[in-house]
Amino acid sequence: MGSPQGKPEVAEAAGRGVWPTQAVCPACDEAAGAGPLEVFHGVSRYACAACDLHFWHPVAMPDAAWYETAYQGRDQTAMPLEPGHRFFLADPKAPKRGRLLDLGCGTGNFLSAARDAGFDVTGVEFNSSAVRFAREHYGLERVFAQRPEDFRSAHANEQFDLVTFFEVLEHQEHPQQFLKVAKDCLTAEGFLALSVPNRDRWQKGVESLDYPPNHLTRWSPRALRNFLDRNGFEILTMRQEPLGIRRAAGVLSAGLRTGLVSSVAGERPPTLTDLAEMNPDEMQRAVKRLSGHPGHALAARLVRLKNFAMMPLAALLLPYLRLRGYTGLYLYCLARRKNLASREAPGAGKISGGAM
Ligand SMILES: [Zn+2]
Repeated sequence: MGSPQGKPEVAEAAGRGVWPTQAVCPACDEAAGAGPLEVFHGVSRYACAACDLHFWHPVAMPDAAWYETAYQGRDQTAMPLEPGHRFFLADPKAPKRGRLLDLGCGTGNFLSAARDAGFDVTGVEFNSSAVRFAREHYGLERVFAQRPEDFRSAHANEQFDLVTFFEVLEHQEHPQQFLKVAKDCLTAEGFLALSVPNRDRWQKGVESLDYPPNHLTRWSPRALRNFLDRNGFEILTMRQEPLGIRRAAGVLSAGLRTGLVSSVAGERPPTLTDLAEMNPDEMQRAVKRLSGHPGHALAARLVRLKNFAMMPLAALLLPYLRLRGYTGLYLYCLARRKNLASREAPGAGKISGGAM
């Protein structure tokens, strides 16, 4: 596994105030006009003036081993459905049966729910322990430990009525290539359903999950709409998760730093950002050390307690925060492939010359 952060020449250039010149938006291929918004360990975040995407440059997606270590535990657990999954299953405009392909299916919690709802399900996930869990725990038969492009090559004749990818797009180094694979798997009028973290959500300070090498892009409703429209999809539903009391309490609590957690744990728990800085051996050792450390279990409980203590204040502020337009974490979207007839419809001129 190569270090995704290993770009010393760029870090040096940034230190001298010389920005890498080839920062090109991975969603629309326009060059980033202005300088970066932020520099993080030699990698810069740009805002695309053309499509509204925020993207990091230069970045590379880490390999399966990185995810297996960074998300340790989550590939061995029956996770509850996420808001994106629930929005899809309740979406009146979404199909209710047919062949469904879930890219980045994780442990298969959504696939299992979709199967129960009547879909004929197939999943693709490059974390092989998650695939094993999906097969053993949920009895899912068609789950492949592959990258989406490899699945596509191996099953070139298969077509699906619906392709889904929840919390996956923001991890992609090449979102356009990823979307092309998804589109190639679809029937002529097939559907896409997805969710991404909403860049416009209410937050305080840094959410370390949202940094490279974990998340490589940040999507707003406008950026997502532009991206799908440009690549031949018609948006049917765009839904921002409303701000909930738990998130409101969490954000308020994050704004209140007490140092209690670090003093109990003896060592600040590593974030994904910290893990990104380590080589694979260091990362393994850090995760192992902390998972067996009693102080960390206590620290985790204290964080929950502190969040819980913020609940009354969050409940009091929630109507005001919602009124101000603050939203929750998830951005859900349902789209459908435009057929040839709708390509002639108003607004279709924005579609790039059939690149996808
Ligand atoms: Zn762009």
